[in-house]
Amino acid sequence: MRLVKTLGICAIFGLFAVSLGGCTKTVAIDDSAGKLLVATTVSPITSIVSQIAGDRVSVQGIVPEGVNSHTFEPPPSTAKLLSKADLIFVNGLKLEDPTKDMAAANMKSGARIVELGNQSIAKSDWIFDFSFPAKDGKPNPHLWTDPIYAIKYAKTVRNALIVADPEGKSLYEKNYADFEQVATLVSDSLKSDQKSLPLASRTLLTYHDAYAYFSRDYGWNVIGAIQPSNFEDPTPKEIARLIDQVRALKVEAIFGSEVFPSKVLEEIGNETGVRYVDTLRDDDLLGEPGQPEHSWQALMRSNYVTMIEALGGSCPALKSLNLEIKGDSAIYPQ
Ligand SMILES: [Zn+2]
Repeated sequence: MRLVKTLGICAIFGLFAVSLGGCTKTVAIDDSAGKLLVATTVSPITSIVSQIAGDRVSVQGIVPEGVNSHTFEPPPSTAKLLSKADLIFVNGLKLEDPTKDMAAANMKSGARIVELGNQSIAKSDWIFDFSFPAKDGKPNPHLWTDPIYAIKYAKTVRNALIVADPEGKSLYEKNYADFEQVATLVSDSLKSDQKSLPLASRTLLTYHDAYAYFSRDYGWNVIGAIQPSNFEDPTPKEIARLIDQVRALKVEAIFGSEVFPSKVLEEIGNETGVRYVDTLRDDDLLGEPGQPEHSWQALMRSNYVTMIEALGGSCPALKSLNLEIKGDSAIYPQ
């Protein structure tokens, strides 16, 4: 049921992101002799790459946490990092085209750009929807919120690192096996905990449309996302229609995101009496860089627990998971 059309507030955040992009601190480039230098884009991908690479590689993210990755333009200083990197991992699926273009224009001879999303999903399985309409040609890029694709990303990272640094093969293979195990545990615990919700309650109405692939793979129903592709504010008429839909569909909760705080969702929540939960995140890790919870797996556990509990379920499996996370040493611009 695609009742909720995309509306738009992104313009504000688009500008915000650009201005933040302009103020982003230049990150130090690690020239440690002999170490592979790997550039990455959004923080969940930086986390996955860093877990596979271990301490053998210098890993540097590009998109600051808390910034809208969909409109992010890299500052000129990023060209220096991209000119030195041996490997550049991007999500692809047209998420970071400005960064990809800058990489292509600046990368050194022998360097390689790897589009993790494009390596993980056939074009025929791309999802176009309200926030990412086919007419714009940009598919929903959020594969990493789905453990199945996160594992595929990790496998592609492992393979690319082995090609770039064959001597590290056994380390990359071991780190990949560890990641696969943790991501599988997250996936299995999610499947177990979501049974505490009746099928009809596994329903998502979000501000930011980051769970399309997750929903398809785990049997959830995305009834809508409020953030439009045209970056305009929802009109009062559209908000009124959303309020009617929330009432008609009897949703238990509506979900905002930390990166895109939304007055509109808050307003809909107030108007309908439906719980408004604003703590989902698609690419802003928990805690601070270097802390144990600053990782892909902690982020996704937090998101799944938030969704299931807000909709009336319980999460004993996810909450008791020992994720065996230790802080990583990648650089995450803030
Ligand atoms: Zn996103």
